[in-house]
Amino acid sequence: MASRLRADMADNQPLILDGGLATELEAQGIHLQGDPLWSARLLQTNPQAIREAHYSFLRSGADVITTATYQASIPGFITHMDVSSECARELLMSGVHLAKESVKRFVSESRATEQKCPLVAGSVGPYGAFLHNGSEYTGEYAEKMRIEELKEWHRPQIGCLAAAGADLIAFETIPSIKEAEALVELLREFPNTKAWLSLSCKDGRCISDGSPFTDAVKIANRSLQLVAVGVNCCSPALVEQLLDSAGSLLSPDMSWVVYPNSGEEWDTEQGWMTPGKASASILELSHTWLKQGAFLIGGCCRIGPAHIKELRQHLKGSCTSAASAERLD
Ligand SMILES: [Zn+2]
Repeated sequence: MASRLRADMADNQPLILDGGLATELEAQGIHLQGDPLWSARLLQTNPQAIREAHYSFLRSGADVITTATYQASIPGFITHMDVSSECARELLMSGVHLAKESVKRFVSESRATEQKCPLVAGSVGPYGAFLHNGSEYTGEYAEKMRIEELKEWHRPQIGCLAAAGADLIAFETIPSIKEAEALVELLREFPNTKAWLSLSCKDGRCISDGSPFTDAVKIANRSLQLVAVGVNCCSPALVEQLLDSAGSLLSPDMSWVVYPNSGEEWDTEQGWMTPGKASASILELSHTWLKQGAFLIGGCCRIGPAHIKELRQHLKGSCTSAASAERLD
C-alpha cells in the first residue's frame, strides 16, 4: 500500500477515489434511506449489488474504492439483523472481500494499463452513524464518552477490516475531535495498517463539533500510519478555505484527502436539495485542492461514477502542483 502510494507520488499523480457508494446503489434502484445499517445491510441481503457498484466506480477510473462498511458494526448487525457475533464479524470482513473481488474482475477484464491495480479502503464511519439519531452530523455523543470508550467501540471493526486485507482504512465523516483522537490512538494497535482520517465540517474553518480543523490536523500529525488527513461529505465550496486554514500544519509525510458531496443539502423531509446559489463543483475546484497538496481526491454523497470519470479525465495527465512534488523529497 505504502509503496503503491509512493509510486504514484513519484509519477506526480493524484489518486482518484470513488464517489458515494450508496448513491450508486440507489441508482441501481435499491432503497436505503432510513435503514439503520444503510448500505451495510446489503452485505447480507444483496452482495452482488455492492460488487456491481464497486465495479462501476472502477470502470470510471477510481484508483481507490471504499467498502460498504461505513455504518457496519458487530452490535449493529446483531441488533438489526439478528445474527450471531461470529456472523457479524464475517459480514464486516465480507465488505473487503466484495471490494477485492470487484478489483480482481476489473483488473482481469481491463486492457488499459494506465490504471494500476486499484486499492481497497475499509470504511469506518463515526459512532454516531450506529446511533442513527442525527448525532452523526454533530458529534454530540462524544461529549459524554471517554476516549477509551470510543476506542472500544471502533476496535472490532478496524480489526475485521484489517484482517480481511483492506489496503488501508478510511476513517470518514468523523464529526468529533475526541473521536479523531481515539481513532489515531487506536490505529497504533494495528501497526501494519495505514489509514486516512477524514472529518465532516460545518464551515470553512471548523469540523462538525465546532473544533477548528487545525486541531484535527495536529492530532493526525501524531500518527506515523496516516497517509492523509482531510475532509469529506461537505460542500466542495468549503474545502479550499479548510485546507488553507491548516496548510502550514500538514506533515511532509501526509497528503490532504478530499472527497466532498455534490454541494446539495440534505433535508430530512424533502431529501437532497440544491442550494439557492449554484455551488462550485468538485470538477472546477479539484485543481485548486491539488495545488494545495491534496493527493487523494474523489466524491461522497450524490457523486456517481460519471462524475468520477470526469474527475479522472480532468486531473490525470495534468501536471500536479509543486506542493505535491515537494512532498516527494
Ligand atoms: Zn457523504
